[in-house]
Order: sequence, then structure tokens, then C-alpha cells
Amino acid sequence: MRAPVLAYIGLGANLGAPVAALQNALAALAALPQCTLLRHSALYGSTPVDSSGPDYVNAVAELSTTLTAPALLQALQQLEQGAGRERPYRNAPRTLDLDLLLFGGATIHSPTLTVPHPRMRERAFVLLPLAELLPAHFNAADLAAVQGQSIWRMAG
Ligand code: ADP
Ligand code: MG
Repeated sequence: MRAPVLAYIGLGANLGAPVAALQNALAALAALPQCTLLRHSALYGSTPVDSSGPDYVNAVAELSTTLTAPALLQALQQLEQGAGRERPYRNAPRTLDLDLLLFGGATIHSPTLTVPHPRMRERAFVLLPLAELLPAHFNAADLAAVQGQSIWRMAG
């Protein structure tokens, strides 16, 4: 049995019923084999960045997993498919996006998987919910770098 690794998943949705989509996705992450959902951030609302359509709902989940990183990515992509995700074009609006942000301390550069997620420090909708779970990971300059972006913490 592999040693468990802490993995951080960025969740986002802006089509259909995004709050329900994120709540369902959190339940689905909790039910994944070889995964335990330990914590998740609050839900955040954000205005699309490099994308279009309605406002996004975002969150970050912390999993303990004995899956490998590629196996976890595959499981995330299956959940996206199950939520009706289509990819008509790059950065299209989406019913559910699940990104692997961090996988323990791993650095991965494969054709299908880059970890840490390459854009996570540029995007307030990833950085702020991740910083809620891992405050020591980010400093004031990191937070200042995304300060201009439109994001708000949702109730509940
Ligand atoms: P994005 O999330 O960047 O808007 P997609 O969700 O459509 O785009 O993902 C496109 C591809 O990104 C996936 O097919 C996947 O192989 C690749 N990818 C590379 N690194 C990661 C990662 N850390 N998490 C999720 N997908 C990744
Ligand atoms: Mg994605």
C-alpha cells in the first residue's frame, strides 16, 4: 500500500446550477476510492478570467489519497464527465472543472499533467480558497499579486 499523500483539488463551475455542482462534486470526491476528503474551503464567487459566461463558483478540497497522481487525475476527469462537462473550445464555460493543484510535494511535468498547477498562483479563484486551507504556503506578495481580481466569499 502506498503512503497517503495530501492532494489539493480546485473546483469550479459556471453553467447550470454551479453551487449544487460544487456540493455534488465535494460529495463525489469524498466517495472516491482510496481517497478521504479531509477539509474544503468556503465557496467563492468569481468573475470569469480568460473565460466567458456567468460568474463562477470555486472552492478547494483537501484529500488524503493512496492513488497515484495520474490515477487521481483520471478519477477527476471521470467526475467532470459525469457532471456533463463538454470542451467545445479552450476556457469554455463549464459545468464542472476539477484541477489537481498540489500532490504532496510532487513536481510533475507529463504531457497530460503538470503539478503544481501552472496557473494556480495567478488566479485569485484558486489562490484564495487554497490559502484558506494552507495559509503558511502563501505570503503577502502572493496575495497582493491577485488583488485586482473580482472574487467574493459566498455565505455558508
Ligand atoms: P483548464 O482546467 O486549464 O481550463 P481543462 O480542464 O480542459 O482546462 O484541462 C485540459 C487538460 O489539462 C486536461 O486534459 C489535463 O490533461 C491537463 N492538465 C495538466 N495538468 C493538470 C492539472 N494539474 N490538473 C488538471 N488537468 C491538468
Ligand atoms: Mg481543468
